[in-house]
Amino acid sequence: MQIKFYGVRGSIASPGPETVRYGGNTSCVFVEADDGSLFIFDAGTGIRKLGEDLVAQSLSKDINLLFSHYHWDHIQGFPFFLPAYQDNQQINLLAAHLKDVNAHSVLNQMTNPHFPVPSDKLDAKVVLLSINNSKLKIGDNTIYAKPLNHPGGGSAYRLESSLGSMAYVTDNELEPPQKPATSYLEWVEFLKDVDFLIHDAMYLDEEQDEKHGWGHSLISQTLQLAADAKVKNLVLFHHDPSRTDDQLDEIAKTSQTWMQKHYSKCQVFVAKEGSEFLVPA
Ligand SMILES: [Zn+2]
Ligand SMILES: [Zn+2]
Repeated sequence: MQIKFYGVRGSIASPGPETVRYGGNTSCVFVEADDGSLFIFDAGTGIRKLGEDLVAQSLSKDINLLFSHYHWDHIQGFPFFLPAYQDNQQINLLAAHLKDVNAHSVLNQMTNPHFPVPSDKLDAKVVLLSINNSKLKIGDNTIYAKPLNHPGGGSAYRLESSLGSMAYVTDNELEPPQKPATSYLEWVEFLKDVDFLIHDAMYLDEEQDEKHGWGHSLISQTLQLAADAKVKNLVLFHHDPSRTDDQLDEIAKTSQTWMQKHYSKCQVFVAKEGSEFLVPA
């Protein structure tokens, strides 16, 4: 499968000279599976550019848009997603593990006074789906869902395609102060041997005291998880909006050195807007 990053930031878009290399758009990852099925993980501000790219390719396939949860940085780009305004397009909005909240909240942001075009004016056929029993089959792919440790809840996803596997786990605190929805050992089990893991790595160790319980992981915890789950490739994701390019360069270096020492079969990357991966490589 082919994976491309369109938005890698957490919390709020952060454009500017200090973030221009890694990118300032919020969470959005595009996956074209081995059977050609299309998946998008989250509709942060990065989805605007992805929408333009998809329309330029004039693909007529269904788009499966999976949400980790409905915080702004994961839904805010949807009203600017061009395929939603194409009448030959079907878009499936999917989510799991969000009790009493369905994907309506993605459409409900398109109301006065927040946005000029109401969602009933979208030309695409928009279908709301939920993933029951934590498992769903789309084409030749199986999607597994797991509850996130995050305020308000949410879902992680593991996608098994015919040739490889990937997982999208963002807005997840691996060691929260309260009882977790998913324990550390359950994460290790869920992510075991995955080819390509995208995981929340928002904070540095020294930021822990202030931010413990906010629903995000330390970079060091994410590295440990990848080593324990024997992940083949790890991408550090959902960067703090104030993290500069130079700091991310440094994080890449120290993380790669750590992994080389603790589990050398895993390659570590820092998520960068526009970067593409073929899985398995
Ligand atoms: Zn977020
Ligand atoms: Zn969140």
